[in-house]
Amino acid sequence: MAVDSRDQIKRYFEQSQQLFGNEIYRTNEPAAEVYQSTVDSLDEFRLQIHECKRCSLAATRTNFVFGAGDPNADLVCVGEAPGADEDAQGVPFVGRAGKLLDKILAAIDISRERNVFICNVLKCRPPQNRDPLAEEVLQCEPHLIRQLELIKPKLIVALGRVAAKTLLKIEGNVALKDLRNKIHDYHGTPLIATYHPAALLRSSRFKQPTWEDFKWIKKILNSEA
Ligand code: SF4
Repeated sequence: MAVDSRDQIKRYFEQSQQLFGNEIYRTNEPAAEVYQSTVDSLDEFRLQIHECKRCSLAATRTNFVFGAGDPNADLVCVGEAPGADEDAQGVPFVGRAGKLLDKILAAIDISRERNVFICNVLKCRPPQNRDPLAEEVLQCEPHLIRQLELIKPKLIVALGRVAAKTLLKIEGNVALKDLRNKIHDYHGTPLIATYHPAALLRSSRFKQPTWEDFKWIKKILNSEA
């Protein structure tokens, strides 16, 4: 290897270390998918990233929202981003929608204390609850991927159209109903999509299909036990 190339690589790692510390991010497109963290527990990982400033949402957040639940869960539910209540408390899904999600999970015998971890693609609230921007997802998704590597769930459930589209890298206008009833793949873990609990609060017509999805989720979890 030419000396110039080695110097360039050395400079790259020095700059990278100044920006991100001793974490190595693979930043080639389509996303910074692989994230080599030195920690091996979810709690340590939270401490490691809770002051993250990788995107501009760090400047507008009240609280970083890592996620909550069982660190050894078989099921991980992923929404798009924290809302106002979550931003205020630093806990995911704590408003009316969150309470409804807890009830739905309880109906299939799952709780935040036992067998589910709940989080979002973005760990900080976008202003006015707008959809996540591509750059924010690019910067934040490695956190989610590392969380999943540590939890090792059997199944991921994307809550809502935006979360499902973001995780599955689907461009354009696709309806959630077209993503349901399929097992997708997210970095090697099965993923299914269902309605966001906030959609159920807006319209009762989503309740029945959501309930069908959660009965299926229970079946998948039991069949793989
Ligand atoms: S949204 Fe994610 S990448 Fe952006 S500052 Fe928050 S934790 Fe970091």
